[in-house]
Amino acid sequence: MSATTATELEEDLAYDSSDEDIAPVTALIKAGKEDISSTRQTAAFRDFMLKPELIKAITDCGFEHPSEVQNECIPQAILGTDIVCQAKSGMGKTAVFILAVLQQIEAVEGQVKCIVLCHARELAFQIFRDFERLKKFMPDVKMGVFFGGIPISQNVTTLKNEKPNIVIGTPGRILQLIKDKALDLGHVTHFVLDECDKMIENLDMRGDIQQIFKKTPVDKQVMMFSATMSEQTRKVCKKFMHHPLEIYIGEGHKLVLHGLKQYYVELVEKDKNKKLVDLLDNLEFNQVVVFVKSPKRAAELNKLLCELSFPSLTVHGRLPQQERIENYKNFKDYKSRILVTTNLFGRGIDMERVNIVINYDMPSNADTYLHRVGRAGRFGTKGLAISFVNSTNEGNVLNEIISRFELPIPKLPDEIDANTYMQS
Ligand code: ADP
Repeated sequence: MSATTATELEEDLAYDSSDEDIAPVTALIKAGKEDISSTRQTAAFRDFMLKPELIKAITDCGFEHPSEVQNECIPQAILGTDIVCQAKSGMGKTAVFILAVLQQIEAVEGQVKCIVLCHARELAFQIFRDFERLKKFMPDVKMGVFFGGIPISQNVTTLKNEKPNIVIGTPGRILQLIKDKALDLGHVTHFVLDECDKMIENLDMRGDIQQIFKKTPVDKQVMMFSATMSEQTRKVCKKFMHHPLEIYIGEGHKLVLHGLKQYYVELVEKDKNKKLVDLLDNLEFNQVVVFVKSPKRAAELNKLLCELSFPSLTVHGRLPQQERIENYKNFKDYKSRILVTTNLFGRGIDMERVNIVINYDMPSNADTYLHRVGRAGRFGTKGLAISFVNSTNEGNVLNEIISRFELPIPKLPDEIDANTYMQS
């Protein structure tokens, strides 16, 4: 839990730990690439020989060309190869595993064929929706999403009635359903971890994942994804796999988001609200995500913004589950333009219209910064990230980011040309 603060931990769910061994395997190394552009214009999805149902759904999603990560992974992933993949945020990693699973799945009624695990409930829900979009023309494939915060009896009923072939969920709840004998993973052919470093580095969560993994057959495809992954984490990930294809697009320090303009503002705590209001009044934006360091601060800041008539919502770990998902949906569906949140929302969550991220509180380390600012400038689009820096400690994090990603982050100028961060 090296760089994880107490507050960040508050956001994690409670997990039983266990430290069971998993089978060791060998790895095949594929060299990481240097800076990449978001798409390779010459490639086409049809070159992957996907099912017509999938090509139709891809076209309906408006995806014209596969991204670099999709080009590198999909041809092998659809053949059942294990994959460990690190590529920067917003590059379409989700579609890699969704297409790989949907291309291969044999939807036998009553059998779970694919399990997808991720660390946060909203992310589970988002993956579920992404699956829905791409399986639009495959009505025989059933899906279910399962996470904590709602009565487990509801999940049990869904499992009985819907009989999902694809199960998406958070590790704690999935493990509970297995223990309660409501969920049987004995027929699984695809095992996916999204934001895998977040789950692998938390020992309790890793323990849960190991237990779930052991409930699946030995012969299956394993795929793991994240934007950040230490050498150590890669090693652990590979222990779950057999001869995986390893794709590292842009090594750690090069994970620069090209369309994203990044600035900092030096200020004292008491000036943060005034500065935030000032920015929200003066910047042009589609949607903004404001990150703070605790659920309490998220609730308070959101209240303040609402009182000032800003169209603001909040999502944080202390909200009742229903409100959490409702707020998430409302923001995703553009019913509100400002979201105040914590690190809970910092990873994986994809909001196409977000073009500004404000770090009202600096994150505690460079990785978290990268995940947070990656919420803007998705899929190579333009965006703006502004970080409030208020103490020596926060200054250190800023310096760490600047040196680690070899990235100039200048002081916020008095005026910014909206063309630099808004799509024309
Ligand atoms: P990541 O998991 O790498 O952070 P996502 O899978 O969430 O990124 O994808 C980011 C956004 O890009 C999503 O809105 C997704 O629908 C979109 N997207 C994915 N693949 C393509 C593509 N080939 N063309 C256009 N948009 C895409």
